[in-house]
Amino acid sequence: MISLVIPAYNEEDGIEEMYRRILAAASVWGDEFEILIVDDGSRDRTLEICERMAAADPRLKVISLSRNFGHQAAVSAGLMYARGSIVTVMDADLQDPPEELQPFIAKIHQGWDVVYAIRTKRKENLLKRLCYLAYYRILRRLAVLDIPLDVGDFCVMRGEVVDAINQLPERNRFVRGLRSWVGFRQTGMAYERQARFAGEPKYNFSKLFRLAMDGIINFSYKPLQFILSIGLVLAGLGLLGAIFVVVQYLTNWTIIGFNPRNARGWTSTIFVILFFSAVNLICLGILGEYIGRLFEEVKRRPTWIVKKQINFSANS
Ligand code: UDP
Ligand code: MG
Repeated sequence: MISLVIPAYNEEDGIEEMYRRILAAASVWGDEFEILIVDDGSRDRTLEICERMAAADPRLKVISLSRNFGHQAAVSAGLMYARGSIVTVMDADLQDPPEELQPFIAKIHQGWDVVYAIRTKRKENLLKRLCYLAYYRILRRLAVLDIPLDVGDFCVMRGEVVDAINQLPERNRFVRGLRSWVGFRQTGMAYERQARFAGEPKYNFSKLFRLAMDGIINFSYKPLQFILSIGLVLAGLGLLGAIFVVVQYLTNWTIIGFNPRNARGWTSTIFVILFFSAVNLICLGILGEYIGRLFEEVKRRPTWIVKKQINFSANS
């Protein structure tokens, strides 16, 4: 069976079309399928529409979360419920078209465990595309594991891989990172990411920024090493500067008309203070990111809460 995990947040304008397109595309898969829509606390009619569709089709299962927990949490929740031997993750906005799934499924049948989608052409604005381009390259340099470039959550996986991902206990879930962390035989396939079918992107700048930080902080301690390196370099420079200043004072040495014994030095002092406090604050901020995540993990709260499940029988 193929399980299609679909996170949806305020997708009332596109979700029916999504469902129709899946039904149309499914005929070539040659396998049974279930559609798992995870309603991530939508405030519009998404849940209502899904409930109506689910009443007529037992293959459509709905998991409704108690509030908006975020895309990554919604995907993780969906993966927990997926029963298929093949599982796909795709967005509800038809940016990842169901018609493109067939070659991915074929690759799984050829023996691959994970086939992730590599985005070739994005249909987003230039600034956003540039940010993505830069981000994935930075992430690749920083991350301790080999996270492939330009790869999102759209993928097809074998059930075993999903079980492995589900076993990972962390609350802060960067699904595409976890997917590459678990290993198995993985390969990528190019596809053209479509424009959104309807509605606005649900990721605003700050959500995207958080996701980007999750990727880096959860999979890399290099920022911490970076702090240590800056600290060492600046301490070295500071020590040289300190020695120089003392020597200059003792020898009463005038440089470019500047003699330390009658100096006022407002500009240089302010400059040093501003510069070093900025470096300090940035370093504290990086530490804060790690500590915040430790805090999240230590609290052991669930990543999501399910409010309602539809079309799940006792044994599924
Ligand atoms: N989404 C979600 N919860 C959120 C934000 C988004 O479940 O808090 C879903 C959304 O409905 C869509 C997918 O995640 O199916 C990707 O969101 P979006 O299209 O806004 O992101 P983008 O395609 O711009 O990366
Ligand atoms: Mg989208």
